[in-house]
Amino acid sequence: MAEVVHTPRVFSGIQPSGGLTLGNYLGALKRFGETQDRGDMPTIYCIVDMHAITVWQDPEKLNRATRELTAGFIASGIDPTKSILFNQSAVPGHAQLGWIFNCVARLGWMQRMTQFKDKAGKNSENVSLGLFAYPALMAADILVYHATHVPVGEDQKQHVELTRDIAIKFNNDYGVDFFPVPEPVIEGAATRVMSLRDGTKKMSKSDPSDMSRINLTDDADAIAKKIKKAKTDPEPLPETLEGLDGRPEARNLVNIYAALSGKTAAEVVAEYAGQPFGSFKPALADLAVDRLSPISTEMSRLMQDPAEIDRILAHGAEQANAIAEPIVRRAYQIVGMVGA
Ligand code: ATP
Ligand code: MG
Repeated sequence: MAEVVHTPRVFSGIQPSGGLTLGNYLGALKRFGETQDRGDMPTIYCIVDMHAITVWQDPEKLNRATRELTAGFIASGIDPTKSILFNQSAVPGHAQLGWIFNCVARLGWMQRMTQFKDKAGKNSENVSLGLFAYPALMAADILVYHATHVPVGEDQKQHVELTRDIAIKFNNDYGVDFFPVPEPVIEGAATRVMSLRDGTKKMSKSDPSDMSRINLTDDADAIAKKIKKAKTDPEPLPETLEGLDGRPEARNLVNIYAALSGKTAAEVVAEYAGQPFGSFKPALADLAVDRLSPISTEMSRLMQDPAEIDRILAHGAEQANAIAEPIVRRAYQIVGMVGA
């Protein structure tokens, strides 16, 4: 069969499962804006509310978190006239294709997902079936737009690889070349920002400890306090990058500084070589405040007009649906559903 060449298209999403963190900004949002501004591929960005409810969410808080996340996208540089920006539940194709993919993905594949193991912990009998099936819905999020490039943080690599497996298996099972096999795009100095309390755990918006993360809505005092209290070791900054080996907390702060300043980690280490964290941390706090405060100010301004946010989301959903609907219909026809 001749290889179908798929038009390049970017898709990525963020869950409204809490407030945005510095990890979400550096690993995702900042790069979403840069990808949009390069302008070489259409960009589709989604607030994935259906993923958020795989863990119970207070309905009112979910409403607010969805609007606040939309504000966070816009404040971080996603322009709804250049990118399609919408919430997942407003486009039925995600759930429709998600079901087909539940029937394509194998139980064994899902059991290997490390995020599920991390999130379910010792409680795996009691978590929702949705949390387990989450990666099949994520595959639908991407493939319902025939997206080819998926900018994500390092933690989502395994899920994008599963999406590739699902696309390949669907194409093989039905003898078609219908779905593209998308690439994860994981770039930059901070593709895995770690918790400020534990350098072996990633920073997450759903972590119970607020001190573990910097929120995009934190004020200058909170940012300075969290960085000052961030766990480090007693050694000063090393002379070279290799000197960060075995020092996850130190490496994390260097990576954050690099990503925020647009320098490489090697440049940051060269600049602060031999200095104690007592002088590096205030410099990092100043830099973080400088980069994040315009975003948080813009987020609060946008949040004053929730009706406008809802209009933006509704318009984005219409645009997204126009792409998704014919792809879902064709997938249903391929599978053999009458009436599709
Ligand atoms: P949750 O704890 O609810 O899973 P989260 O902070 O992990 O929330 P997600 O909505 O799951 O956020 O992920 C959104 C995007 O942010 C993904 O592309 C993910 O890879 C990226 N991301 C999340 N945490 C980090 C991090 N610590 N460093 C870099 N990127 C991250
Ligand atoms: Mg996550």
